[in-house]
Amino acid sequence: MNPVYLDYGATTPLDQRVITAMQPYFQKHYGNPSSLHRFGQQAKDALEGARKQIASGLGAKPEEIIFTSSGSESDNLALRGTAFEARRARGADHLLISPIEHPAVVSTAKQLAALFDFHISWLEPDRYGVIHAESVAEHLDDRTAIVSVMHANNEVGTLSPIKEIAEICREHQVAFHTDAVQGAAHFPIDLDDLKVDLLSLGAHKFYGPKGVGALFVREGLDLIPSQTGGSQEFGLRAATENIPLIIGMAEAFQLVQEEHQARLTHCQALRDRIISEIQKIIPGCELTGHPQHRLPNHASFLFRGLDGSQLVLLLDQQGFACSSGSACKSGSSRPSAVLSALGYSQAQALGSLRITVGKDTQESDVEAFLSVLPDCVSTLREQA
Ligand SMILES: *Cc1c(COP(=O)(O)O)cnc(C)c1O
Repeated sequence: MNPVYLDYGATTPLDQRVITAMQPYFQKHYGNPSSLHRFGQQAKDALEGARKQIASGLGAKPEEIIFTSSGSESDNLALRGTAFEARRARGADHLLISPIEHPAVVSTAKQLAALFDFHISWLEPDRYGVIHAESVAEHLDDRTAIVSVMHANNEVGTLSPIKEIAEICREHQVAFHTDAVQGAAHFPIDLDDLKVDLLSLGAHKFYGPKGVGALFVREGLDLIPSQTGGSQEFGLRAATENIPLIIGMAEAFQLVQEEHQARLTHCQALRDRIISEIQKIIPGCELTGHPQHRLPNHASFLFRGLDGSQLVLLLDQQGFACSSGSACKSGSSRPSAVLSALGYSQAQALGSLRITVGKDTQESDVEAFLSVLPDCVSTLREQA
């Protein structure tokens, strides 16, 4: 039997159509977009075409899209760039983020605090991982440089009320960033309606290539670039643009727009089956994250009396790829910071398992998984 991949939250395979779109840009159209000759101009056209495609998928202007090397880099640029500019322009020194943000946000904020004298207020999530708009309102003050709250959490799948939070930040004239690396893979985003100032994307969560991302920066918002050099990407990100990857990202994002409804329906049915069946057949388990307001492909659980990384390894032996906590922490049995922030004890948090399905997951894959899971759980509980 082929191994079954149930870890689409960690990364997704490239769509064949994305590979086809990228192909000519490795060897045939290899120009540098900054060159004046025809090779350069052709690359420049391709780059600007990709920028337009992403912008139109988001309801943004092309000049508001900055290509980066990853979702992580987009988060870094959003936080550091806005924080330094807000400090320079008006002496702001306060960051407002939640402890369940992706490490690309949390570690960046912590570094700004440790080395650059910013201070952080932590927005407390509820038990499900929702960050409420009221708590943002409570913590905002006139020294706040940036607020960052993720659209959808990668570990527990929960969606936060980004639209409301954006409105509150706008009223206070404070920049609001959302990490939509997970969310944008599943939900259409209309930045005409959603008043966020900065939004991060990463291509490999939606069947695009790894190593490319984008940051939406609303017109009129100034950032201090973290990578300096040439004037690429409107002076916000120096480096010769990675045209094949950017083309791949634009194609993959276009496919999200065209197929999101079909993908959503497909994934949600599989996810619902996983959630209801696990709760029925495995005693001592708890769904983490919000029961309704969550990513359509995302099921996450705590199993009492076992170590989630052991469970991932045992499932892998049986031919099923899942994750425990986030992929960045695989191998180490430290409880997830996200689950701790949601109020789970260390012992509870250790028993986490995340199952994320994708557009190519079959019903038979899910049934096969559900048929081996109970034995894996019992085996580990007996050993404990
Ligand atoms: C994957 C992920 C990132 C990081 O994106 P990379 O492109 O892998 O650097 C950031 N935020 C969230 C929510 C993610 O799921």
